[in-house]
Amino acid sequence: MSTLANTHPTAELQARDAAHHLHPFTAGAALAKKGARVITSAEGVFLTDSDGERILDGMAGLWCVNIGYGRGELADVAARQMRELPYYNTFFQTTHVPAIELAEKLAELAPGDLNHVMFASGGSEANDTNLRLVRTYWKFLGKPEKQIVIARKNAYHGSTVAATALGGMAGMHAQGIPSFDGVHHIGQPDWWSEGGDMTPEEFGLMRARELEQAIAELGEDEVAAFIAEPIQGAGGVIVPPDSYWPEIQRICDAHDILLIADEVICGFGRTGNWFGSETFQIRPDVMTIAKGLSSGYQPIGGSIVTDAVAEVIGRDEFNHGYTYSGHPVAAAVALENLRILQDENVVGHVQNTAAPHLAKAWAGLADHPLVGEAKLVGLMGSIALTPDKATRAKFASDSGTVGLMCRERCFANNLIMRHVGDRMVISPPLVISPLEIDLLIARAKTALDETLSAITAEGLMVPAT
Ligand SMILES: *Cc1c(COP(=O)(O)O)cnc(C)c1O
Repeated sequence: MSTLANTHPTAELQARDAAHHLHPFTAGAALAKKGARVITSAEGVFLTDSDGERILDGMAGLWCVNIGYGRGELADVAARQMRELPYYNTFFQTTHVPAIELAEKLAELAPGDLNHVMFASGGSEANDTNLRLVRTYWKFLGKPEKQIVIARKNAYHGSTVAATALGGMAGMHAQGIPSFDGVHHIGQPDWWSEGGDMTPEEFGLMRARELEQAIAELGEDEVAAFIAEPIQGAGGVIVPPDSYWPEIQRICDAHDILLIADEVICGFGRTGNWFGSETFQIRPDVMTIAKGLSSGYQPIGGSIVTDAVAEVIGRDEFNHGYTYSGHPVAAAVALENLRILQDENVVGHVQNTAAPHLAKAWAGLADHPLVGEAKLVGLMGSIALTPDKATRAKFASDSGTVGLMCRERCFANNLIMRHVGDRMVISPPLVISPLEIDLLIARAKTALDETLSAITAEGLMVPAT
């Protein structure tokens, strides 16, 4: 494999980056002082930076590079497609082969009668589609007053205006969308932080029943849908108690509302099945997909809907779509990604090899003095950092202070792990081998040891009162 060698000094790249590039979810001034890490190439589960360091990517980019880096087949398909038909739209009663084949493939892979796809360029756009789609669905059914979408606090559904409103991130709500009619948030099933003296199962039931209470309070004839991630990703890999999803499904079945499963992270093998909905045995009417759909090699997402939803939406014109809906190059690359996932039985590798191997070592992290619970489903996991496991205490320092220190120690040890507050999360490429998992765990332990030493020295190993 030839790689493009980086010939620019890191400091020069950092200065040029700081001069003109505004980064997402970043305080620009602080980054400019410090300098961004420059990634120059990648292969398998490893990134190479501009200093030549080889970094184990425990996050698969942003939860998306499911087949790992460096798969030349996807580059070949993209080049071929660009030569043959680089772009055409799917508006105006027109289509093309990559969009046809990808929609057909997704109908085959998605569970139940989720057989129809509307494409977007990512997960945020797809959730914008979903908000309008479920409202339009009820309108076409003669129930235009069913408008409200119930969502959850600390959910992440993307960063466009509608996706931000659907999400439950307070920091995002505080910027740019002071109010958004028609979205109602209920509590999240985060037992570790919010479960108090309840058992996880009692707490899971209680949180699920908030959905039923919300439907009763808002009025069933006003509610269009409930949206949730099977496992909250950006919220900190919050794995719901076993009691949660069956109760949510019961409530959705008992009431006349649609269930939207945001599978942007959980989809395409992450949880050990093709979709998180299979892992938790839920039957969504609408599924949001993106990220692992193309393993991040091209920006593409979409909404998969059931036969019943498609039939209603098809009754009249749904005034919605994007210039790049079903983009031929992105669709062709996604198809090749799905071919590799299938032909190489990557989902089977997660279920039978990688996840069981990681599960043992990951659970063992809970023995570390800094770690409370360690959660893992498939290849998405989290650990809660705590100054006192017995009481599940938070730190006295601001949320995220210790988590950020731990992330820094991970980076220093050439491991990418992300922090969400004081939770550390992983979501490695699905093709990770047992040996690479051992390396991930060894580096994580070193980082935890170094974090513990540092916070002990700084007097931060103190519970909030
Ligand atoms: C990343 C993410 C999104 C947003 O996808 P983009 O491609 O960044 O727009 C939506 N939902 C979930 C669950 C995500 O993790």
